[in-house]
Amino acid sequence: MKRILITGGAGFLGSHLSERLLNEGNEVLCVDNFYTGSRKNLHHLLDDKNFELLRHDVTHPLFVEVDQIYNLACPASPIHYQFDPVQTTKTSVLGAINMLGLAKRLKIPILQASTSEVYGDPEVHPQPESYRGNVNPIGTRACYDEGKRCAETLFFDYYRQHGLEIKVMRIFNTYGPNMNPEDGRVVSNFIMQALKGEDITIYGDGTQTRSFCYVSDLINGMIRLMNSEKGFTGPVNIGNPKEFTMLELAEKIIQITGSKSKLIFQKLPEDDPLQRQPIIELAKNKLGWEPEIELQEGLRTTIEYFRNLKSHHN
Ligand code: NAD
Ligand code: UDP
Ligand code: UDP
Repeated sequence: MKRILITGGAGFLGSHLSERLLNEGNEVLCVDNFYTGSRKNLHHLLDDKNFELLRHDVTHPLFVEVDQIYNLACPASPIHYQFDPVQTTKTSVLGAINMLGLAKRLKIPILQASTSEVYGDPEVHPQPESYRGNVNPIGTRACYDEGKRCAETLFFDYYRQHGLEIKVMRIFNTYGPNMNPEDGRVVSNFIMQALKGEDITIYGDGTQTRSFCYVSDLINGMIRLMNSEKGFTGPVNIGNPKEFTMLELAEKIIQITGSKSKLIFQKLPEDDPLQRQPIIELAKNKLGWEPEIELQEGLRTTIEYFRNLKSHHN
């Protein structure tokens, strides 16, 4: 049994990771300031004697005793990370420094939830880990993209300078139950709009692409990376390489929900990447990992989750 710290544990990915690690017989300490996450995501774990939840902001130092750290704290959706951009950069950068300091004192492995956003609006398609990206450092997405890039720099400098065991994971768009219905992301927006019979808001002409990974696949990859051979640092892409346009995504959601919603076209947000698709050969070779859940199947489960959520609110 290990004692495992998850920062951002009350969020979408953190709540799934907490549940998996508890089920595998570990003790889990979640640290979260509830900025975008919620206690509700963890309600089924709160009575577990091996689970502990601490309200704490990772921009401040944290002194606890644990065996592994998963550093997930950071708002992940554009409307949330752009709401207070200075705090977003602080969370990524100061959060990384504090958690790396903690890992250094305890001499324990630490995993960073990095992102495909480090590739920016990519000019190389699909994206291998060796691609250095095309990020606008002064744009409205930069607080997130550059914060995550700086966190990667800190991870590799602690690795080189202090011999820390680091694992850097570049996560591509992920969806599933426990997504926040109000976070403005495309999967949650389209599903909620379809279920309510409202217009589906396509930004731009809808030909931009994303590659969507179902949450259980993502969590499998994350745990495999944390427990991968010593010295394997990544960065490693974890995502589903099947690429879809936003129009295709909308059509699938309309078809599964049987909704009568119409598509409407709105302005494309600034610096919105045109395309995104991971190359996952490294994850296949080093972690023996690849995604298993098709978009159609994952969307069905996610739509069911949102349907229940909606009926509880009505
Ligand atoms: P989320 O917003 O649901 O979860 C983030 C959690 O971090 C929330 O519970 C929030 O309250 C907490 N948090 C934010 N700032 C904090 C701070 N200063 N101190 C303590 N807690 C803080 O997002 P998510 O989708 O679960 O993403 C988790 C991680 O994975 C993030 O680091 C995100 O950048 C990364 N990621 C996610 C995706 C995705 O598609 N979901 C893609 C790429 C990367
Ligand atoms: N830190 C922490 N918990 C610990 C150890 C360190 O939060 O258990 C913080 C510490 O406050 C510092 C940061 O991590 O701000 C980086 O620590 P490090 O030892 O690398 O740097 P230093 O303390 O020398 O600045
Ligand atoms: N998007 C959209 N309608 C929405 C929300 C998002 O067309 O209601 C588009 C958005 O412009 C982007 C894609 O969907 O091109 C994915 O957006 P999301 O915010 O989910 O993720 P990210 O841009 O961070 O990959």
